[in-house]
Amino acid sequence: MNYRIAVLPGDGIGPEICDGAIKVLKKIGQKFGHEFEFEFLPIGGAAIDKYGTPLPDFTVEKCLASDSVLLGAVGGYKWDNMPVDKRPEKGLLGIRKAMGLYSNIRPAKLWPSLAQASPLKHELVKDGIEIIIVRELTGGIYFGERGRGEENGAAYAWDTEKYSVPEIERITRIACELASKRSKKLISVDKANVLETSRLWRKTVHEYAAKHFPEVEVTDMLVDNTAMQIVKNPTQFDVVVTSNMFGDILSDEAAQVTGSIGMLASSSLGDGTRGLYEPIHGSAPDIAGQDIANPIATILAAAMMLRDSFSLTAEYNEIVSAIERVLDKGWRTADIYSENCTKVSGSRMAQLICDEI
Ligand code: NAD
Repeated sequence: MNYRIAVLPGDGIGPEICDGAIKVLKKIGQKFGHEFEFEFLPIGGAAIDKYGTPLPDFTVEKCLASDSVLLGAVGGYKWDNMPVDKRPEKGLLGIRKAMGLYSNIRPAKLWPSLAQASPLKHELVKDGIEIIIVRELTGGIYFGERGRGEENGAAYAWDTEKYSVPEIERITRIACELASKRSKKLISVDKANVLETSRLWRKTVHEYAAKHFPEVEVTDMLVDNTAMQIVKNPTQFDVVVTSNMFGDILSDEAAQVTGSIGMLASSSLGDGTRGLYEPIHGSAPDIAGQDIANPIATILAAAMMLRDSFSLTAEYNEIVSAIERVLDKGWRTADIYSENCTKVSGSRMAQLICDEI
């Protein structure tokens, strides 16, 4: 098969880590008989410098014409003082919106061979963990009405959380599809003891899952308890679905539990199969251009693209197990280095993964 992938390298370490992911995709293509065509497009600071905007129209058009999109990272010191609507991050928000992406999936995976990087006690994480948080991305309190006023001489501010049944149903579908390919267990996180939106959330998730995914067992967990359970008993989680704000907070907590930001990928999906795949970390301007950035998060993002946009599950598994073997052999980039391991550059890490495939 032939797949057209739009690549948005962006800023800082973005181009280096995308290079590593592309090398791995090419190797997988050779092994499994696929042709991947890559089209490189500007976004973020790189696009501001060349085109005066963080998201040129042609970048959007070509992403929409592609089969899927791989993104490095955007941002850097150089653009920190630009006006808000001209900043590199605007490019990222803009492309998500243009592609109609309403879900964000972030697997927080702790590889058994990196268990020492976790801030949690060894016995809690020694067998590895994988918490996949499916976050609603375009609704809820971050997009609700807000304002400021004054009452009895005191200033006040307000934000509103609003969710409709269709918004909840479509994110439930994405979470259930994922859960049905994995443990068939889904934890829905809300604050239904207090919030009306959470009560609608809970009811809708259960009704939709029971009707369309009867094989998936749905349980509920309050968000405060979830925050506690992630550090107390992280192995109980597999797929978690939640609202925009709760997902924002919990996915950072879960990422922290794994202890290695250079190892975590994410995907954003909408109605079709086209998605936006990226590492969760930023452009790391402090280490850009030194070939020390860990490319594994971006390689995993590319692997998720194969599985979730192109239904190439064997190819996904091959990449993940190649990474596992490289780690088990003790190869490490600087960010995940520990005693008795061998430190390698970012490009060498990508090559080692290719060699394992
Ligand atoms: P960051 O994730 O870029 O870096 C945080 C720390 O982690 C740094 O010490 C960095 O060197 C390290 N790090 C990150 N990725 C790494 C990798 N692959 N290998 C090794 N070490 C790695 O976050 P930050 O420093 O807060 O932000 C830097 C810039 O990135 C800012 O301009 C910010 O706005 C932007 N940013 C972009 C995205 C995105 O594009 N999705 C996300 C977050 C931050």
